[in-house]
Amino acid sequence: MSFRRKGILSFALFIGICTIVLLLFVSCLPSTHYGTEEEADAAAPYLITAAGGQQELPAVQVDELPAEAEPVTVPAAVPSALPEALPEAVPDAVPGAEPEQDSNVGTTLFHPLSEDTKPVPSSVTTNTYVPIVPPKNTGKTSSKVSIPVLNYHSVAIDPGNIVVISPDKLEAQMAYLHDHGYTPLSLDAFIRLLEGDTSEKAPEKPILLTFDDGYLDNYEQAMPILAKYGFPATLFVSPGMTEQDGYLNWDQIKKMQAGGWDIQPHGMSHPHLPKLTADEQAYEIVEARKQIEEHLGTKADIFCYPYGERNKTTLKLLKQHGFRYAFTIDQGYATNEQSPFLLKRLFVNGEEDLQAFEAQLLKRK
Ligand SMILES: [Zn+2]
Repeated sequence: MSFRRKGILSFALFIGICTIVLLLFVSCLPSTHYGTEEEADAAAPYLITAAGGQQELPAVQVDELPAEAEPVTVPAAVPSALPEALPEAVPDAVPGAEPEQDSNVGTTLFHPLSEDTKPVPSSVTTNTYVPIVPPKNTGKTSSKVSIPVLNYHSVAIDPGNIVVISPDKLEAQMAYLHDHGYTPLSLDAFIRLLEGDTSEKAPEKPILLTFDDGYLDNYEQAMPILAKYGFPATLFVSPGMTEQDGYLNWDQIKKMQAGGWDIQPHGMSHPHLPKLTADEQAYEIVEARKQIEEHLGTKADIFCYPYGERNKTTLKLLKQHGFRYAFTIDQGYATNEQSPFLLKRLFVNGEEDLQAFEAQLLKRK
């Protein structure tokens, strides 16, 4: 073998060895290697270059992050005003339970909070599933109901006093309501309408007439005028003031009730409720109701705030003691969109004429 042939063979052998080494190297490249997470974390990040080599990426400099990162605002976990009643139809809802994260696709999870131990397919998040329950047919409507509630006090001749209306003016206003198709309601009928009860046909122009304080002239003047038109009314009385001069006695109140008047509480002594302690307020509210119920034998769970004044304690007490509604002297129609304890009324100014009465009735809607 000549020196030249030896050289060629040696070169071919070298090429063959190089090819084997190259194949072994290619088979070990990262593209085919799925290391464990630990390995991945431990290894420095690499960039595979176009030439097939590896280039180490620069390490992320932690101190290059913005020095003043935006603080994370965590919303208050529990809103202060939670609805009183939670929807009934939320089975298996567990407050605070996080939906399960299923990272193992294709496996089966057992719901740890379910009484039923059957396997639950991982694709169903059982604790957020809420079946759609059709609403019960209660015969009630949810559309807006808006009814004017007139607020009278004394019926007498007292020029300059806006809370006193003369019998003549009251008569003219009742005639106006009658002639313009208004239907004064009993308190029960008013509440049924407000609550959307459609079991009876609603009058075209319903209205509620209310008289505050229990003045003797309500019996002597107002009752005969209203009776002439067959109008019912509601009397808010302070039992602690009955039997006093200028105020109704129980015998008269009973006769008014028999004549179509609903009798409801207005505090025992017509106090400024927010100036009282909780216990004093409770006495004023509950005792007034109790005395009316004892004297008349009928429910007295619709309150009327003396001077229209109330605070949070007042509202809490009314709710706590099972009152259903309360009237204010906030001006406007009473609607089913108002809080049941903040029903509005229209103050009738005894000094104003019939035109002003009509305008107030129409504009406040
Ligand atoms: Zn009053």
